[in-house]
Amino acid sequence: MVSVEIAKEKLLNVGISLKLENNTIAQAFGKILAKDLRSPMDMPPFAQSAMDGYALGEGSADQGSMFNVIGEVAAGSSQQFQLKKGECVRIFTGAPVPETAKTVVQQEWVERNNDRIVLQREVPEKMHIRPIGEQIQANDVALPKGTLLNPAAIGFLQMLGIVEVEVFAKPNVKVLVTGNELVEPGKNLQYGQIYESNAQMLLAALRKEGIEGHVGRVKDDLDQTIESIESALQENEMVILSGGISVGDHDHVGTALKKLGVQEVFYKVAQKPGKPIFFGSKDGKAIFGLPGNPSASLTCFYEYVIPVIRKFMGRTDIFLPTLRLPLADGTIKQMSRAQFLKANISDGQVHILEGQSSAMLNTYSLANALAYVPANAEAVNAREEIEVHLLP
Ligand code: AMP
Ligand code: MG
Repeated sequence: MVSVEIAKEKLLNVGISLKLENNTIAQAFGKILAKDLRSPMDMPPFAQSAMDGYALGEGSADQGSMFNVIGEVAAGSSQQFQLKKGECVRIFTGAPVPETAKTVVQQEWVERNNDRIVLQREVPEKMHIRPIGEQIQANDVALPKGTLLNPAAIGFLQMLGIVEVEVFAKPNVKVLVTGNELVEPGKNLQYGQIYESNAQMLLAALRKEGIEGHVGRVKDDLDQTIESIESALQENEMVILSGGISVGDHDHVGTALKKLGVQEVFYKVAQKPGKPIFFGSKDGKAIFGLPGNPSASLTCFYEYVIPVIRKFMGRTDIFLPTLRLPLADGTIKQMSRAQFLKANISDGQVHILEGQSSAMLNTYSLANALAYVPANAEAVNAREEIEVHLLP
């Protein structure tokens, strides 16, 4: 048995095989850049007007000065104007500013009479002109290696005309659910049976990380367990088992993993819930044995599986974001094991939810965080700060 802290350190240090791939921008969403990406162009590529107004040529720009309007440049126009002294062009936001223009004045600052404008106030030089390369210059690093391609990054790549990027591939993930007592919703329950709940729950949690997982079901049978894990390992970088990892006579996952030569990184963590969690690796692949109790399974997923998924995706910020906030009310007792408590943060305070049992999911849907109390830590009283891990 290891402590939570050691288990997490082991997660950080375990060797896994990262795969690179070229993606279109649409495919790259949610992935991590595998290389520094340099801009293929200046942005903006031409001096751009930031206003609807007039681009003024040489001449006095004092209040009352007059300019002749010799043409018009709209966004997308390629027409070039040579502005002489006292001349201007009508211009619109995003349009190329003539090289001979000294400044752009917004239309609210001028009075127009036919083909002539009169400045209503003094206009400084170089106003409302976005110079070439103001945002980024050709060959500068646009986004560094390791950047998460979120919507803003996707937009930025499109802005620079980039069509393909090199990213870390997402892992293929298989969820294997064990338990003879489990029945799929939609069927009738016999006495002693319960509905299977972890498969869809874990698939949904995977989907939140941007991963479309697949599910397999396994009977509490050693040979079948070995077979299922072996074939899952052939096609996936990660295999997540649910249930069967404890020490009961019908728990075959541990034995199966040993027989398959999966190397144990840790088995059993001094925590509540989720003590009987297994994590191992084989040939750069990751294997989790999660406890079958639904709430424990999900908590272990958040605390241990997500960091490894993120590692596979090339992320370095792999753990859930952590805050320290005051406990709203009640007391959390000291325990020799670390505690993860389903919690809801509202009004900047941590509310510990009812129904903390590892078998209960009834309140988990209200949780937006897990409160964490280290092993042997002193009891936490109302208004004292407690560590919380924000759920994705
Ligand atoms: P296990 O980890 O296999 O010993 O299971 C622990 C408890 O969780 C038992 O009460 C199981 O019936 C329950 N359980 C295991 N797997 C699931 C599942 N996929 N869905 C719902 N309950 C489960
Ligand atoms: Mg079981």
